[in-house]
Amino acid sequence: MKEIYLDNSATTKVHPQVQELMVRIMNEEYGNPSSMHKKGLEAGHRIQEAKQRIAKTLHVQERELIFTSCGTEADNLAIIGGALANQRAGKHLITSSIEHPAVLESMKALTELGFEVTYLPVDENARIRLGDLEAALRPDTILASIMYVNNEVGSVMPISEAGALIKKKNPRTLFHVDAVQAYGKLPVRPKTAKIDLLTASGHKIHGPKGVGFLYVRDGVRLKPLMPGGGQQRGMRSGTENVPGIAGLGLAAELACKNLTEDMDRLYGLKEYFVQEINHIQGAHVNGFAGRDSAPHVVSVSFDGIDRSEVLLHGLEGRGIYVSSGSACASNHPAISATLLGMGLKREYLNATLRFSMSVFTTREELEYTASALRELLLTLRRFRKG
Ligand code: PLP
Repeated sequence: MKEIYLDNSATTKVHPQVQELMVRIMNEEYGNPSSMHKKGLEAGHRIQEAKQRIAKTLHVQERELIFTSCGTEADNLAIIGGALANQRAGKHLITSSIEHPAVLESMKALTELGFEVTYLPVDENARIRLGDLEAALRPDTILASIMYVNNEVGSVMPISEAGALIKKKNPRTLFHVDAVQAYGKLPVRPKTAKIDLLTASGHKIHGPKGVGFLYVRDGVRLKPLMPGGGQQRGMRSGTENVPGIAGLGLAAELACKNLTEDMDRLYGLKEYFVQEINHIQGAHVNGFAGRDSAPHVVSVSFDGIDRSEVLLHGLEGRGIYVSSGSACASNHPAISATLLGMGLKREYLNATLRFSMSVFTTREELEYTASALRELLLTLRRFRKG
C-alpha cells in the first residue's frame, strides 16, 4: 500500500543527504571534539561547519548558537536558564496559553520556584493580541516567551511586532521565541525581530531526532542547566552529538536554501487542500488558511464525529498518516489548549485532525487524502446514525 505521510509537524523523514553525512561521520569521523588529536579536530570541525551553516540561515554569529538534545531542552535552557540568571531584575514572566508543553512546563517549574507567570489568551485564529502583551509587560518582567508558529493549527504569531513592543516597553526583558515549527518553513531573523533567544529542532526539518539548538544573542546571560565538563563554553556540558549536530546543520542549510520557492509551493498545496476540504460537507478548517498562516499545517474539525482517533485510524487503514491533537502530546489525549483558546465549539475538541505537509508532499497525495476523507466520513456518519 502507498504511504502518505501528512504528520510532518510531529516529525519528518531524514533527508537522504543528511543520512549520508551522518553515516559517514559515525563510521569515519567518530572522534570526541574535546580530544586533542586529529580525530578530535575532525569532529570539532564538523561542529563548526554546522554552526556556520545555521548561522548563515539566521543571519547571526556562529558563537551565538548552542546545540542541545532537542527543541524541548533548548526551550528549557532559554526559559529556566534565562529566568534563573536574571531573577535579580524581577520574577515576572509572560507566555501565551497555547505554547508547546516544553514551554508551559518550564514556566510551571519556575512558578514552583516563586516566579509569577502571565498567560496571554489568543483570538479565534490562535494568535496573541499585541494589546494583551503590552498590558502584561511590567518593570519586573524578565522574560517573555512566544511561539512563532503554533504546532496544532499553524497560526503565525506577530513576532516582529511583539519584539518591538517588548523592547520599547522594557529593553531588559528577554524575548524568547520557540521557532520549532517555523524554522525552515518561514524566514526567521532573530536580529530583525529583536529576539534574544530562539529555539529550533532537527527532526522537524528533515534532520535527525535528538538534536536542536538555541540561538543566544551575544550578551544574554543564562544559567546552564547541565553542569559537567564545560563543553560549549560551559553553557551546555556533555560530549557533543557530532553526527546529529552535523546532520542538523546540513538539514538547516537544505531547508533554507530555496525557502521562497518551497514556501510558494507549499502555500499552493495548502490552498488546494483547503479548497478540497471546503468541498467536504461538515468539514471546517480552523484559523487562517492563507499566507497569514504557516505553509505546512492544516487543522480541520468535522461535524458528526465523536472521536477524531476513529477517523485517524480510518485514514491509517488507507496508508495516510495524520495527527489528532498536538504534535508531541498526541499519544496522551488531553483537551487541546489551542483549540479551546480559539473558542472552538466543544463538539469539535475531539473531532479535529491536523494534516501537516513537507517539501516532499505532492498534490496527488492531497487529492487522495481528500477523497479518502470524503468516503470515511460518509461511512462513519452513517454508522453513527444507525
Ligand atoms: N516546540 C514546538 C512548537 C514543537 O512543536 C515541538 C515538537 O513538536 C517542540 C517544541 C519540542 O521539540 P523536540 O521534539 O525536539 O523536543
